[in-house]
Amino acid sequence: MKTAIVTGAGRGIGRATAVRLAGPDVTLIINYNSSSRGADETAELCREKGAEVITVQADVSKASDCEKLVSAALEKTGRIDVLVNNAGITRDGLLMRMSEEDFDDVIAANLRGTFLMMKAVSGIMLRQKYGRIVNLASVVGITGNAGQANYSASKAGISALTRSFAQEIARKGITVNAVAPGFINTAMTEAMTETAMKAAVGAIPMGRPGEPEDVAELIAFLAGDGAKYITGQTICVDGGMCMR
Ligand code: NAP
Repeated sequence: MKTAIVTGAGRGIGRATAVRLAGPDVTLIINYNSSSRGADETAELCREKGAEVITVQADVSKASDCEKLVSAALEKTGRIDVLVNNAGITRDGLLMRMSEEDFDDVIAANLRGTFLMMKAVSGIMLRQKYGRIVNLASVVGITGNAGQANYSASKAGISALTRSFAQEIARKGITVNAVAPGFINTAMTEAMTETAMKAAVGAIPMGRPGEPEDVAELIAFLAGDGAKYITGQTICVDGGMCMR
């Protein structure tokens, strides 16, 4: 039996990941921040695949909430095999006009949230001598993106955090990797203007956006035993966006 935590799993890539990981041999800890209804829907989809599921409200930018989330998992099964740090937000705008609050909020949810969750599970995974951590980075963390200085910086930070923690625990049976989606059809990208959306799709060699399930497939691979000799990597799922 494996226990997997997926943060921000009430919709989009997080939901697709939880559903992809779900099965009779898996207990899923579905995290949400504000949308309990979305988390309940994800939980139902996972139960249909035979998984045991609990939903837990937690704001990953707060250390006490991360500890609450980890405690809920431990109370349920006594172990944590997989952590997917998927929760993330955008607050787009040109740097010259970006408020300090919009900068700080994005860093807090994306980068600090990933740090806090990895820290919260680290002792348990070390005791188990087993763990798979998958963090959600982004192609814009590699290329940068006009209008997303805060978000790009948070995602570049997540890749660096991934490489650093991977090195610290590489000998302990724990892998830490990141996936970097390109342009994926979710609520996050629906918020873009039509012009920005056209420009983004125009930059994809495959000529179309990806689906949350495309990202979930790579996350599931990195979360599984087949990926045991892969650590510290940031792997793009982007229809080719990042090759040039
Ligand atoms: P989404 O549809 O906006 O979903 C994001 C989820 O994160 C929401 O369910 C939200 O939960 C949760 N969340 C936000 N802040 C949180 C917090 N502080 N604590 C706990 N949960 C929080 O986004 P998505 O497109 O599926 O993206 C998922 C991940 O992939 C993000 O990290 C994103 O940056 C990354 N990514 C996405 C794309 C893309 O094209 N879509 C590209 C590159 C990277 P609540 O609604 O409950 O607040």
